[in-house]
Amino acid sequence: MKRALINVDYTYDFIADDGKLTCGAPGQAIEKAIVAITKEFIEAGDFVAFGIDAHIEGDEYHPETKLFPPHNIVGTKGLELYGELKTLYERHKDAPNVYYFNKTRYSAFAGTDLEIKLRERNIKEVYIVGVCTDICVLHTAVDAYNKGFDIVIPKNAVASFNPKGHEWALEHFEKTLGAKVI
Ligand code: ZN
Repeated sequence: MKRALINVDYTYDFIADDGKLTCGAPGQAIEKAIVAITKEFIEAGDFVAFGIDAHIEGDEYHPETKLFPPHNIVGTKGLELYGELKTLYERHKDAPNVYYFNKTRYSAFAGTDLEIKLRERNIKEVYIVGVCTDICVLHTAVDAYNKGFDIVIPKNAVASFNPKGHEWALEHFEKTLGAKVI
């Protein structure tokens, strides 16, 4: 079965100690696992999509402006991928199976061409990794479910600042979205 990896929001602002909206230690703890699975998919020739939250500072029309402090602002370090994942991405960014795109909502499918890229490639199964388990990973998984993709969540490669939300989301993936949580 053709599979893809959707890499969600592993950026400086979401992971670094001084990131603007950081997951902190739980986010940093998955660095090795997210790098390992991303490398595995890239080297296997599987499609790897980086769906990365990007905002314009002070966007009065964006719903997150009222909900969160400014983060992942275009043109800032906060929007860069974090740590070793950045190094890995830089090394492979010109590979034909690596696709980076910005998103503006929690789900990597909302207002992006991710679905069309997956359909073109006849991909049926999506692995989703990154942060936060109970926000952007969750919303991406819900959209993937509604669009009929099979879902796999490698639990060592997702994280949240909220331990309760993290646990709830893992259960939701499995029990409600029919995902394989591995
Ligand atoms: Zn955001």
